[in-house]
Amino acid sequence: MGKALRVLLVEDSEDDAELIISELRRGGFSPVFQRVETLDSMRHALSVSPWDVILSDYDLYPYDALDTLATLQETNRDLPFIIVSGAVEAEQAMTALKSGAHDFLNKDSLARLVPAIERELREANERIQRRNAEERVRILSLAVEQSPVTVMITDRDGRIEYVNPKFVAVTGYQAAEAVGRKLDFTQLPTAGNNPLEGLWATMREGAEWRGEFCNLRKDGQLFWEIATVSPLTADDGAITHFVAVKEDITVRRSYEDRLLRQAHYDELTGLPNRLLMQDRLMQALAAARRGGHRVAALIVDLDRFKNVNDTHGHAAGDRLLREAAERLASCVRQSDTLARMGGDEFVLILQHIDGAEAAENVANRVCSLFARPFRLDGQEHFVTASVGITLFPDDGTDSHELLRNADLAMYQAKERGRNGYAFFTQEINEKLQRRMAIEGQLRKALGNNELLLHYQPILDLRSNQPVAMEALVRWRQRDGKFIMPSEFIPVAEDVGLIHSIGDWVVNTSCHAAVGLAQLGPPALRVAVNVSPRQLRDAAFGPSVLRLLQSSGIAPDRLELEITENVLMEDAPETDANLKMLCDMGVRLSIDDFGTGYSALGYLQKYPFDTLKIDRSFISTATTNVGSARLVETIIGMAHGLGLQVIAEGVETAEQLAFLRSRDCDLAQGFLISRPIAIDELPERLRAIAGHSGYAIA
Ligand code: C2E
Ligand code: MG
Ligand code: MG
Repeated sequence: MGKALRVLLVEDSEDDAELIISELRRGGFSPVFQRVETLDSMRHALSVSPWDVILSDYDLYPYDALDTLATLQETNRDLPFIIVSGAVEAEQAMTALKSGAHDFLNKDSLARLVPAIERELREANERIQRRNAEERVRILSLAVEQSPVTVMITDRDGRIEYVNPKFVAVTGYQAAEAVGRKLDFTQLPTAGNNPLEGLWATMREGAEWRGEFCNLRKDGQLFWEIATVSPLTADDGAITHFVAVKEDITVRRSYEDRLLRQAHYDELTGLPNRLLMQDRLMQALAAARRGGHRVAALIVDLDRFKNVNDTHGHAAGDRLLREAAERLASCVRQSDTLARMGGDEFVLILQHIDGAEAAENVANRVCSLFARPFRLDGQEHFVTASVGITLFPDDGTDSHELLRNADLAMYQAKERGRNGYAFFTQEINEKLQRRMAIEGQLRKALGNNELLLHYQPILDLRSNQPVAMEALVRWRQRDGKFIMPSEFIPVAEDVGLIHSIGDWVVNTSCHAAVGLAQLGPPALRVAVNVSPRQLRDAAFGPSVLRLLQSSGIAPDRLELEITENVLMEDAPETDANLKMLCDMGVRLSIDDFGTGYSALGYLQKYPFDTLKIDRSFISTATTNVGSARLVETIIGMAHGLGLQVIAEGVETAEQLAFLRSRDCDLAQGFLISRPIAIDELPERLRAIAGHSGYAIA
């Protein structure tokens, strides 16, 4: 079987056609052929079937081979076209070849036919391949030209040979301005870490390089690009060019930058936020460890900032915080960090200080910054600050510990009356440790029956009879250790246990009073201390009502002791609770009078029955004229308002005599009795009643 060959014969002689076909067969082809005689039938044949070769006679009256060649060319097909004819003049042959015929053979010497066809088939094939390749290149270069990303081709040294139109659009440089320059010529010159540093080395190794960098447009505008630079190699593997593909990522970068900013800076004040501060603190500590110097962390908390928000609104609060931030910024050095932790709390990190004194100076300056009033809504408003100071490495080994300790020191400063600073001390630390231990155990104390009440009798100075007793809570731990309320009540308040403890105290003391009365007269009132937290809980009043009913005690035999500060807070729940308690007929007394604000207006607001003068005034009343006057005045004032007065902490007969001489109504103190357990009470009360000593004027 020979090679298949599809032959279109344009030949008016059947004999010649047969001659040609048999020649092809002899040459090893298996021709499939069609003979046509007219241009029309040739056109038709071309349009309906594929052909490998066209063999055309020259003279085809009334046409010639030039016409058949033209007919082929009309179809735009690149087929080998060979003229096979009788004797033809050389000039005609030349014209035909010039017009595009591929060969010209004489019918008399057909031996050349097969080699000519084979050659033409080969060449036609090559032409097709070349055209395909050219087409590919054309499309590729179109893709590069119209690419939505920047494409750049450089020589082996990174010198630009080509840039696509996108490059021109992105950078503002014309192609001619770019060609010949280094591929990174648009890069923004940066000090220090150059993102392109690795580029040249990577390129020399023939590896691909990827990176992001900031560029400068011709008009000076900045933009970000991500680039991939890869080598182009010749067949032998040698690098001939590099192609860089770059994409504009300015939008993404600016979004990331904004996110980065949001994540690290406080929106209100523009100061570093907690996250960035922690980072800076860690860096400062690392540097301090290397350099062997100290770092101070100061926590600055505005005093009673909540009042500003409550009375002037949050917008005014925000303005104040911004101004506070500005004032604070004025007292830090370049190397220090001022950050806002959130709320009204700021942190100052002082790098590289010699010792406590330097930190103290800054703390002093901070406090003095707040001596000037803030202007809010045209009004002057004083807001002071409390500062807690810790030093590295003295007070903590890591940032977490330092900040925690600074916080504790700050609370210490607040406890000392605000508007000042406190260093973290070992004492504070121990207090904290103890507090944490208490918290853990206190949660179980109630359930374990570890709480108990002691009662301190209160003496009527006219009748010399005990008329009341104050219930004072104690905590006897499992190991028998007693913990006093001043230590665990604040913790109970902080962790919310005060509510259940408070209810327990009311319930237990009411039952105790009822039980005591059953033993015989006199029926004592029982005074119970109430924490401000309890009064702020809307459930407190109803809960007292329930406990009163269940114990069966007359409401006017229960007296609730509250401190002045409660009334200053002006919380609506407190208000509702006090009103409800008054309506029930429960007595109210003011405890520790003289230690709080001692604003007298509130004495009228609620129907108080009793006022308890704080122990600190009683203990000095007989030794200090000022105290004596104060006690006198308080008694006079209280009487003027229709209140009974209890003197707390009476320890000596002199004090008692003094109080009696100043017309004080009631007295309570170690002189009369320490707080004692319920089962000791009946005997103690009898002893007090029968005691003649108190009667001495
Ligand atoms: P307070 O209500 O002012 O109670 C009087 C405190 O003075 C009691 O201390 C009492 O033992 C002490 N005291 C009485 N007479 C004398 C005296 O002559 N000399 C001296 N130096 N001290 C005297 P206590 O029991 O340690 O209670 C301390 C504070 O704890 C109480 O002060 C009260 O504010 C609070 N507290 C006590 N029990 C409760 C309670 O059940 N609930 C609440 N929320 N607080 C309580
Ligand atoms: Mg009390
Ligand atoms: Mg008191």
